[in-house]
Parts: sequence; structure tokens; C-alpha cells
Amino acid sequence: MSTDPYVPGIGTDAATIEHIVLDLDVRLAANRIAGTAVLHVRLTRQSRRVELDLHRLRVSSVAAVVDGRPLKASFSQPRRWPSRLVVDLGESRSEGTLVELTVSYAGTPVPRRSPWGTIGWEELTDGVLVAGQPHGASTWLPCVDSPVSRSTADITLTCDAGYLPVANGVGAPVRTRGSRVAWRWRLSQPVPAYLLTVQIGRYRLVDAAAPVAGVPPLRLIASPRTEQRARAALAPQPAMMAAFIDAYGPYPFEEYTAVVADEVLEIPLEAAGMSLFGTNHLDGSWESERLIAHEMAHQWFGNAVTLGRWADLWLHEGFACWSEWLWAEASGRSTISSMARRAWQRLADEPVGLVLTDPGAPEMFEDWVYKRGALTVEALRRLLGRDVFGSMLRAWVQENRFGTVDTPGLRAHVHAWAPRASVTPAQVDALFDAWTLRPELPPFPG
Ligand SMILES: [Zn+2]
Repeated sequence: MSTDPYVPGIGTDAATIEHIVLDLDVRLAANRIAGTAVLHVRLTRQSRRVELDLHRLRVSSVAAVVDGRPLKASFSQPRRWPSRLVVDLGESRSEGTLVELTVSYAGTPVPRRSPWGTIGWEELTDGVLVAGQPHGASTWLPCVDSPVSRSTADITLTCDAGYLPVANGVGAPVRTRGSRVAWRWRLSQPVPAYLLTVQIGRYRLVDAAAPVAGVPPLRLIASPRTEQRARAALAPQPAMMAAFIDAYGPYPFEEYTAVVADEVLEIPLEAAGMSLFGTNHLDGSWESERLIAHEMAHQWFGNAVTLGRWADLWLHEGFACWSEWLWAEASGRSTISSMARRAWQRLADEPVGLVLTDPGAPEMFEDWVYKRGALTVEALRRLLGRDVFGSMLRAWVQENRFGTVDTPGLRAHVHAWAPRASVTPAQVDALFDAWTLRPELPPFPG
């Protein structure tokens, strides 16, 4: 059964996937894929069936192994439920059992329709883009498409020579057969399936700016057409990375890759160790620069420290938006205070009747969630003071790295840090109640 009312019918509370080995063959001209996914599935309660998400791709075989022994497993893709793959293990298995499932599948991937537009695998004019959030992973691989299921991944992609495919982690070409080239990536940090991705285009690797000590390798991937503009627009990234490492602690992944799709994209998007931008984000404006900072900050808030239910999206977006203000101050453009005050004024001009921690599925990606979330972070900074706030934030990331968080958990965390700032429990509760549980916009935090 689904665990999240914001994405009904997706995910399961009976299993998580700990590791994925995916071998995917992509035929770009025909928009067809054929894959074999080896899934290390952990049962989180006693069950006979494993329910996976797989959107409109046909499965030809499923093999199951427990403790090195093959099982008599069967599978079905219910017609009334075309986004689900149900594997029957033949008998009930206890909680904690590790089942290795090998799923062979193929078809024409299509994005999911949702209240937030189309999600997942998207065919471009000359390539592919995957926008996984919140439930698009199942458009290209079998998975538990829920943020509480975290996997490491080995992804091998085969596509036509002349294209550069990009997936998560550290990758390199491994073999060439005729006009087909295979690439392999290894992602060693466990992330939810929606943060796995593949981008394919007539890209090339553009060297990023000169490396800075203490900063992970930054890679820039763009088409020859946009290479120069991409290089210029993303030039602040090493300094952004240094500012965020200083504020939030070590960068959670091994590399950071910015991909510029050869298209106009309405919004940029984060994935594990990667961000995706459109050609429209290369204009050098503050509006684009703040988004470049925003996506990078998601590597800490969202990708390493992840919500358990989508109603808590502010725990990703509020911190990523606040990071834009941090970058505005670090780069000498403005101050956090004046950026926050402007955002508060804009919110004050608009009536809002919704609650930050449960805005409702259709509203969850609305800008007011992002800005009110960022103002909540700013209210915390003002309550605790700069130094205790900074330590509290770094501890929040450190303690919850590659784990699941919620708003009550953040409140408890702030309570634990409050005495160091001589802040009372009542003050912490008053802040969380006003900013996260009531619809009215509180006064600008003093
Ligand atoms: Zn965001």
C-alpha cells in the first residue's frame, strides 16, 4: 500500500530497496528502452508479496533469490494498475529478509501525469531528460518510488555513439560495440529513487572553473552550442560550494555535475550529485544565479537529508531558498536580512489560507511554500542567533545524513540546541506553531 497521501498508489510500506544494479539499453530514435534491474529488496514487514512501481513498461521475467537460493516467484502487472509490478515470493517471508529480484523489462517510457505536470522520463528533440520528483523514477526503472526507500546504485547505460549520457555518481565509458557505447556510473551514497536520473544529449564534458581546495570535483556538461554561456553562467559554482560547505558541513556526494539541457526548461532540477538546467538559466541574471545556488543547496537539504512524506517539502525547499539568501550575502550582493525582508513583504501582500507542513498536494511546489519555508529558517536564525543557529544546522545535516526527517524532528532538534542560545522551550514552540502549523503569516521575525 502507498504510504503517502500526496502521491496515492505509489511506494510501499512493506519494503525498501538498498541497492540497484541497472543495465539499461536506450534506443533514442525509437524512444525505447530495455533493461535488467537487480534490486536488493529488504522486507520491512512480514510479507509474501513485493509491490514495486514501474510505469507502463512491460516486464518479461522476474527472478527472486533469498539467501543464495532461487525462489519460485511469480509476477503480475495488474491491468487496472498499470504502474505497479507485484512479485509473489511463493510464501510469506519475515521482516528483515533480503530478497534479490532480477527484473527484465522493456517498452516506450512515458512520463507520469500529475497535478504538477508530467514527471519522469521525457523525450527531448535530440535526447532524454529525467525529472524524477516526486514519483518519476518508475517511468524508467522498477523501484520503490518513495523517499523513505534509499538505494545506492550501479547504472550502466548503452546508447548511440555521439551522445553523452549522464547518470548519478562517478562514471566513465566502459565499452564500444559498433555504433553503441556503454557507460557505467557508481553512486555510493544511498538516495531515494526520485533522485536517480539519466540525461542524454549531444553533450560534452566542459571543464569547470579551476578547483578550489576542499571542494569536490565540479563537472559541467553542456552542448557545444551552449558551452561558452554555460561556463560563464556557472562560474560562481566553486565559490557557492565553498560557502555551503562552510555553512552546512562536508558536501555529501563524491562529485557535483551540472548538466545544461539543450532546451528551455521551466524549472531546474536536483538529482543525487547533479543538477539540471535549461538554456534559459544561462543569462547571468540574479534570477538564474539564485537557482544555481538553490539546486546546489539541495545536495544537503533534500538529497542527503530527506523528507519522509511530501507534505514536509518545506524541509527541502525552505532550506534551499534560504541558501539563495546565504549566497546573496556570501557573494556580496545583498544580506540575508534584506532578502528575507523582501520575501516577507511579498508574502504579506498575498492572502494565504494554508499551512506550511500540510499545504495539500496540488500546492506543494508553489512558491509560497518555498518562501515561507525560507522565512521559517530565517526566524530560527534570528531566534538562536547566528552562531548557535549555524552549529544547529550543521548538526542537523550531520545527524540526518542519508536519513529521513520530519518537522517534529526538526523542532526537537532545535529544542536541544536552544539552551545554548538562552532560548526557552516555549519560545521554540511558539516559533514552530506560528510558522509551520498556522496559516497566518507571522510578523517579520525580530
Ligand atoms: Zn528546490
